[in-house]
Amino acid sequence: MRACLVFLTILTLSACGSVQTDAELESYVSAFELEAKRHGVPVKGSPMVFVKKLSTAGICHHGSHIEIAKDWWDTLTEYQREALTFHEQAHCALGLKGHTSKQNTLRSKAIPSSHFYKVNRGSLLVELFDTVQN
Ligand SMILES: [Zn+2]
Repeated sequence: MRACLVFLTILTLSACGSVQTDAELESYVSAFELEAKRHGVPVKGSPMVFVKKLSTAGICHHGSHIEIAKDWWDTLTEYQREALTFHEQAHCALGLKGHTSKQNTLRSKAIPSSHFYKVNRGSLLVELFDTVQN
């Protein structure tokens, strides 16, 4: 009985505590924080966790943490993974509301192609952090 109460207490505390970033996603949180600082917006990245499935590739969950759909993640290139996580961080950590209808930006719903992101990464990041600041 006592062991059961201790177990329940630990379970309750962990459920109420802050969300921990999954190990595979830690480098993406750090990369976002580094780029944010470089672009004059020093913010703490929101925790990111994998979930099995979502109706989209990722979601900012009530502004507190980011959920990434593992089934989508497994189909993305490294560049697209960064684009996705930076987009969700913009919602969660920078307060980006809604999406632009413009294509090939980190503020639109669609993840840019790997090649496009690779070639235009610098200007895409400037645009992302600039528009959030203004
Ligand atoms: Zn979005």
